[in-house]
Amino acid sequence: DVVTRFAPSPTGYLHIGGARTALFNWLYARGRGGKFLLRIEDTDRERSTPEATDAILRGLKWLGLDWDGDVVSQFDGRERHAEVAREMLARGHAYKCFSTPQEIEAFREKARAEGRSTLFLSPWRDAGPATHPDAPFVIRLKAPREGQTVIEDAVQGTVTFRNDQLDDMVCLRSDGTPTYMLAVVVDDHDMGVTHVIRGDDHLNNAARQVQVYRAMDWAEPAWAHIPLIHGPDGKKLSKRHGAVGLEEYQAMGYPAAGMRNYLTRLGWAHGDAEFFTDEQAKEWFDLAGIGRAPARLDFKKLENLSGQHIAATPDAELLPEIEAFLAAAGQPILSQAQKDGLSRALYCVKDRAKTFPELIDKARFVLATRPIDPDEKAGKALDPVSRGILAELTPQLQNASWEREMLEASVAKVAEAHGIGLGKIAGPIRAALAGRTVSPSIFDMMLVIGRDETIARLKDATA
Ligand code: GLU
Repeated sequence: DVVTRFAPSPTGYLHIGGARTALFNWLYARGRGGKFLLRIEDTDRERSTPEATDAILRGLKWLGLDWDGDVVSQFDGRERHAEVAREMLARGHAYKCFSTPQEIEAFREKARAEGRSTLFLSPWRDAGPATHPDAPFVIRLKAPREGQTVIEDAVQGTVTFRNDQLDDMVCLRSDGTPTYMLAVVVDDHDMGVTHVIRGDDHLNNAARQVQVYRAMDWAEPAWAHIPLIHGPDGKKLSKRHGAVGLEEYQAMGYPAAGMRNYLTRLGWAHGDAEFFTDEQAKEWFDLAGIGRAPARLDFKKLENLSGQHIAATPDAELLPEIEAFLAAAGQPILSQAQKDGLSRALYCVKDRAKTFPELIDKARFVLATRPIDPDEKAGKALDPVSRGILAELTPQLQNASWEREMLEASVAKVAEAHGIGLGKIAGPIRAALAGRTVSPSIFDMMLVIGRDETIARLKDATA
């Protein structure tokens, strides 16, 4: 059975690259009836903060990535990690190294001066246990010196490392604390992780991590190292390209479903499919579809997919998402009347909105209250002639039955009487109802706000 994991270090915020790694692991597990686990790699006590952990959990929850079981703290496993280091020692796959930092530095300086590799070769590697002094030591892995370490990676293919370029890594520090490199392997093994899907900045680590698996006779997981995300210009992603924190995208008002779809496509492809549902993503996602070249951020595509997901979301789900967005963005919450109005208006505002702020802006006609303050262009559309025409329309609407065809007929009748087209009369009506020259169709607005409000706004405009 498939078991994947996301293993972030809680030292900042949830980066979109991390969010994508989490998403790939989630999709891979969910599409195969497997488990998706979450482990917080908090062994670096100086850099790890509870706030950063909270930010990661918040981000994953917003993105809709649910994990199985409890959140695992790597730091909590330190006793177990140390135990494994001692076991490798007992098996002869590790050794106590008593070299002091000064000795190691001296070794490096000498190697540098003689033009040799500065990779530290510990004199303790082959010293028998009898010669061990009573002094501080680290436990180092006794890595193979000759030959190669080969990684079969689902994305990178066969990757070969020369063993003479890998040193004997430290597994347990002199203060008895495990190193990160050891902890990752022990945790992945103990958690039953079958597939390690992560950024390719960890590819070199994999070479050393497999040595631990081999030393312990543990089954190696399948590896998939994903190329990191680049900016639109093809350079390594940085803040100057735009937002890099997942929560910034949430704050900009992208729906989680759109973000999921977009991040899924960032470095993975299924034919030429762009828009897809979660069900399709889970069904289609595979490691073979992950590209070897770094994906580039494409904000246009994000907007496009985001808009399609807003349009495709059922109204009953959209409304709470919009409210959650407003709350997260620290904006005033909607009154009951605004909520009712917005839910009536969703059908005519959700189609061309790429983000929640855009949707809210389009819905201004129903969220605003009288008197509607027209913007400059709308004010111009309400010239004296137009206001005269609106004044004639008002009594017509008073008695019309409030259905689209009837409203269309009433407006058409007044337009005809003045020898003008529908487009000409729609301008001032729009200005009176929305205070803008751009809005949903005037008939949609009338239907959404109702007869009394429509007439009141027309009267305000003609007063
Ligand atoms: N904690 C590592 C990171 O945040 C990930 C380690 C892993 O996935 O193996 O980059």
